Amino acid sequence: MSTMTSFSTLVAVVTGGGSGIGAAITAAFRARGARVGVLDLHPGDPADGLLPVTADVTDRGSLEAATAAVAEAFGGIDILVNSAGIGAVGPVEGNDDAEWHRVLDVNVVGIARATTAALPYLRRSRHGAIVNLSSIAANAGLVQRALYSASKGAVHSLTLAMAADLVGEGIRVNCLAPGTVDTPWVQRLLARTGDPEAERARLAARQPTGRLVTADEVAAAAAYLASPEAGATTGMSLAVDGGMSGL
Ligand code: NAD
Repeated sequence: MSTMTSFSTLVAVVTGGGSGIGAAITAAFRARGARVGVLDLHPGDPADGLLPVTADVTDRGSLEAATAAVAEAFGGIDILVNSAGIGAVGPVEGNDDAEWHRVLDVNVVGIARATTAALPYLRRSRHGAIVNLSSIAANAGLVQRALYSASKGAVHSLTLAMAADLVGEGIRVNCLAPGTVDTPWVQRLLARTGDPEAERARLAARQPTGRLVTADEVAAAAAYLASPEAGATTGMSLAVDGGMSGL
């Protein structure tokens, strides 16, 4: 018998569910029995209990249409995971205004937009939960990550504010702060360096566990925060960072 919490009555929407952490969260939720709507620029293929919808978190209209499609297909929405995000490299003077606006628009305003689109459905759920993707970049000073860190610090603050506003309605809001996770995003970053293996070893050594975090480890934490068992947890950031922020 499975020891995993059953999500069989639950419907989740995962932005950024087409790749990496969002895809692992989608798989973990499906494994627990949830039906999942994947909202992404590249949402992948449909499958049993899985509805991919092309959506852009910078476009309010596309999120309204996508959440409506998921709610109609599966009878509501109980859980929202905001995993869509993009990176930026450089010190504080290293990105121009357009790049600052582009990254904040996806990583921060995107969460506000997706949440606004999902809230009418979450309010009708008896089990509303939101999980946002923050980062180690919000908890530790990382070199060459000024814009990205600012965006993820904002995700943590936004999570707290959303949790305060929604606690009275029974909707919990938490965020995850992963360390370096082995996803297509990190693989793309590694490929751009002169020596990907050396850079991978450097990133692994930065985390006290001595290895990169797996997307499945982040997904298990997301499943916990979204589950009824986390009913007393809201407004929190859970580090999944190999001990990097705590040790
Ligand atoms: P990824 O690039 O593998 O996946 C990101 C997904 O978001 C992609 O499918 C992409 O199409 C989608 N996306 C990007 N812009 C979008 C938009 N405008 N609208 C809709 N979808 C969009 O990245 P990942 O590593 O899985 O990262 C997921 C989240 O986790 C991000 O928010 C990232 O900041 C955060 N995070 C990642 C790491 C890491 O080391 N990989 C660490 C900490 C936090």
